[in-house]
Formats: sequence, structure tokens, C-alpha cells
Amino acid sequence: NSTRVINLSAGPCALPESVLHEACQGLLNFNGTGVGIAEISHRAPEFIAYLTEVQGLIRTQLDVPQTHSILFAQGGGALQFSVVVLNLLARHRLLYPELSDSERVLDYVLTGRFSELAFDEAKRMGGGRVNTVVDARLHSATGKFDNIPSHAAYNFSPDPALVFYCENETVNGVQFSDGVDAADPTSFPFHLLPKDTPLVADYSSSFMSRPIPHLADHAVIFASAQKNIGPAGVTVLIVRNDCLPDVDAAAALGAQPVPYTLAYKTLADHGCLYNTPPVFAIYVTGLVLRRQRTLGGPAHFAAVNRRKAAKLYAAVEEGARRGVLRPRVKEGRGRSVMNVVFDFYEREVEGRFVAGAAARGIKGIMGHPTVPGTRLSIYNAVTEEQVDAVVAYMWDFFGQLQ
Ligand code: PMP
Repeated sequence: NSTRVINLSAGPCALPESVLHEACQGLLNFNGTGVGIAEISHRAPEFIAYLTEVQGLIRTQLDVPQTHSILFAQGGGALQFSVVVLNLLARHRLLYPELSDSERVLDYVLTGRFSELAFDEAKRMGGGRVNTVVDARLHSATGKFDNIPSHAAYNFSPDPALVFYCENETVNGVQFSDGVDAADPTSFPFHLLPKDTPLVADYSSSFMSRPIPHLADHAVIFASAQKNIGPAGVTVLIVRNDCLPDVDAAAALGAQPVPYTLAYKTLADHGCLYNTPPVFAIYVTGLVLRRQRTLGGPAHFAAVNRRKAAKLYAAVEEGARRGVLRPRVKEGRGRSVMNVVFDFYEREVEGRFVAGAAARGIKGIMGHPTVPGTRLSIYNAVTEEQVDAVVAYMWDFFGQLQ
């Protein structure tokens, strides 16, 4: 469709065009029911079958073991910053009822804006002592979030209620590598975690873009959909089955009460149908995941995304070589495969870059309000050909500046 542009938005962002056509049909008539997907009861057998299929698409593509449940929540990734604290503090209370609040520790790995927001939220929630495992700003020459710190810098607590990290920092363009090798300096240091630690990962901006290393070692993985897999409105949760605490039993022992709609156990016990789930968002997510399975799943996207990022960073390096811009994250320090962030030295040049891109049908490249700069997001639905077009534009742009 010639009216559509190359959309490099950080999210919501591009969805595959074929999926959007299918979704139009589904809005009129879902799976031959004669009822549109936004009109059908969430308890209709056809919808329940579909929801089960979507869970299966996630389970098979990411190899999620039976020890973990796949759940759908509302409220976005940001709501999980508090929800995961409530649920895992309830679990900790059931395991260790005798401990005081100050003896319950919540461990945070700070690598960017979203882990920082999660950390701030945890402090607001109370019920435990919030600890910094590592703060990447202290390992930066500029004092900013622009790196994955080396493994030696991490300081985990002995028996925390949770350890939180954000796999891909959407705003800062910093990401852990997908290496499972302890020798890989930008990998998450799984090998340093105390045994049985409830590990929590925010995968909002990298979910399904590649396989998840050490998936089975996580207590909770959460991801809002609106980057790689669907529209905003649904949050995917992968929760280890011992992390579905009975929040009433925990409250009876002094834990904070947890709204039933936010208790992981409620979602699991009711097949995500305790209250109305975001039917349409789950529907489109399912269409995207069906397509992704056909293409080869996360392994396929890992390869394509790696090539896309390599091409884009090469263009960024060319801009740096010409003295036009500065990449936010240095090579080898944890560059994101999803969000490529850089700063032009001159504001005026940045403005021309954005306007020139728009003239070529390349949109959505502004940075985050809190962290100005230029950000090109290349999620799964951005094709390699589109990245090639963006790279060609960048070369032309640099050439015109000389
Ligand atoms: N975590 C990360 C890594 C994100 O990128 C975002 C959204 N940009 C969020 C959390 C918050 O998600 P939501 O806006 O769906 O609440």
C-alpha cells in the first residue's frame, strides 16, 4: 500500500501489513462466527479456543517449559512494575512469614529509564527494602545510561524477594546480549545469581525478537505487546508456577492486599478470563504470532534483526566518522538491536535529518521526551529492505552535509 510509510516509531509501531488486512476481516467477522472480534463475548468457545492458540504460539516459539504459565494482563508494562512487586512480596511472605519488611530485599539492576522507573515504583510500594545491584550510570564516562556494566560490578543480595532487570532499554538503546556464555561481557550474569532467585525480566521492547536466554530460570517475564507482537492493550506474562501466590493467604500473614485482577494466581486460575481480557489486542497479537511462526519464529527474527542492526549501526558509525553525530552507546557496550539511538552535534542538523526522512516516507524517528536525541526503532515488522532504504537515506544525507 503506497500510502504507508517506513515507520521507525519506538512503540506503538509498525505491524505487518498482511496482519492489518486480516484484522480488518476479523473486525467484521471473527473466524466465521458472523460476529466481529470487538463484539464477541470473551467467553465464546471460539474466542477461548483462540486465546489458547495464542498461548500455544508463545509456548512453542519460545520453548516455554510446563513449569511456567503464559498469561495475558492489562495495564501495560508499566503496571507490572508494581504488580510484580506485590505478587512476589506475597510469595516471599508465604515462604518467610517471620521476616520484617526491612529483611525482605528487592534487587534492581539499573541499565536505563525503564529499570529506573521500576526501581522508583518498588520504593513507593513499600513492604521491602529496595537495593541497587548495579547502576550503569556509575560505569559510564558521561554518567548516563549508555552501557551494560561488566559482570564484576553486580552485587546481588543473598535471598531477595525478586531480582529485576530490563532486557532492552527502549529509551536509552541499551540491551543485554543474547549470549548464554558467562564470558560474554554484555550478557546478563545468570551465573552469578544465587540459586532459586526469583528473576524478573521486562521484555517489553524485545519480546519475540529473538530467543530468550535462560528462559526457564526466570520467575516472571513480562512484555507489553506494542513493539514486536501487537497493538497496545495486552501484556504477556510468563510466570513460573511457584510464583502464583495465594494473595489472601499472604495478606492473612500481614502482606499488602492485592487486587484480584492483579494477582497472577487469579489470571492463572481463571484462564485469563476472570474479567474481560483485551480481546482485540489478543486477537491481533495472535495474527502476528501465527505469521511469525510461519516465517521461522524467534530464530528467524534473531538473524534478520541482527543484520538490520548491523547495517544501521554501520551508517551511524559513518555519521560519527564524518563528525556529524555521536552514537549513544559504544560498540561492545550493549548496543540495542531494537532501538538505535544517537545525537547530532547540532540541533539544526537533526531537524533537517528528520524532515528529510519524512520527505522520503521515513517517520517516527524522534527520541524520547525525557532523553532527547534521534532514535530509530527497528522492531520485527520493519523489514530489512526498509532498513536498507533508511541506510541509503542516511548516506545521502551525510553526503549533502559535506
Ligand atoms: N518497559 C519497557 C522496556 C518499555 O519499552 C515500555 C514502553 N515503552 C514499558 C516498560 C512500559 O510499557 P507500557 O507503556 O505498555 O506501560
